[in-house]
Amino acid sequence: MSKTIISVKNLVKNYGKFNAVKGISFEVKEGEIFGLLGPNGAGKSTTLEIIETLRQKTSGEVIVDGIDLDKDPNEIKKIIGVQLQTSGYYPGLNLLQLIELFCGLYNRTVDPMQLLEMVNLKDKAKAKVKELSGGQKQRFSVATTLINEPRIIFLDEPTTGLDPQARRSLWELVKNIRQRGTTVIITTHYMDEAEYLCDRVAIIDAGNIIALDTPDKLIDNLIATGFERPKEMKLANLEDVFIKLTGHSLRED
Ligand code: ADP
Ligand code: MG
Repeated sequence: MSKTIISVKNLVKNYGKFNAVKGISFEVKEGEIFGLLGPNGAGKSTTLEIIETLRQKTSGEVIVDGIDLDKDPNEIKKIIGVQLQTSGYYPGLNLLQLIELFCGLYNRTVDPMQLLEMVNLKDKAKAKVKELSGGQKQRFSVATTLINEPRIIFLDEPTTGLDPQARRSLWELVKNIRQRGTTVIITTHYMDEAEYLCDRVAIIDAGNIIALDTPDKLIDNLIATGFERPKEMKLANLEDVFIKLTGHSLRED
């Protein structure tokens, strides 16, 4: 059993009188891809941003790699990679310049071209963020999470709004990042994505965790209740047709 890298206990977040996160507890193991699944408004981003030290919790305990959020948020910041909204980037700078800027902020030296190569954006080194497609923007924003060589990265709905090819390209990127030993926490409401990527998932609804396990186990549990899909599944679906016809390769590059 690998070691626990994030431990959340009885986490509560109130926005005024509204109870957005209702005392949730979960652990993330080192090196896993952990999914937080749930409908809009479930409390996924709130939970993530509290762990990322970007939002204040109301109560509860958060420990990241042995560091207590209440005592040492700055130490937590040093070991995590946070995805920023691409709209927040300095519009006048190109990708290389942005990476150099982030290196300065994090006090790190990385090879910007190597980083861009990893996210398949070498050709776009001199482009500005606004000139990128949706998938390219997301890949760049994932790249920026890696600059400080974090132990853990947080991805909040990284594939929302992307076409099937761009989603698959991002999935492979996330798998590569984990392959290098980085723990990944990802939110999504695409269940195929969670099933493909995540080692374990927590399903969160209206501020409560209502299930937490491996995708396989959750599916088996449902089948064990006697659940059957209402109609016989075909061996492929419309997305398979789309991918077969239009190919796996990215159009945007
Ligand atoms: P998710 O990411 O799962 O869609 P959020 O964590 O963004 O959900 O939001 C959870 C709930 O908290 C939602 O009902 C949302 O409207 C509310 N909420 C989020 N941020 C704020 C805020 N800054 N002020 C008030 N309510 C908020
Ligand atoms: Mg959200």
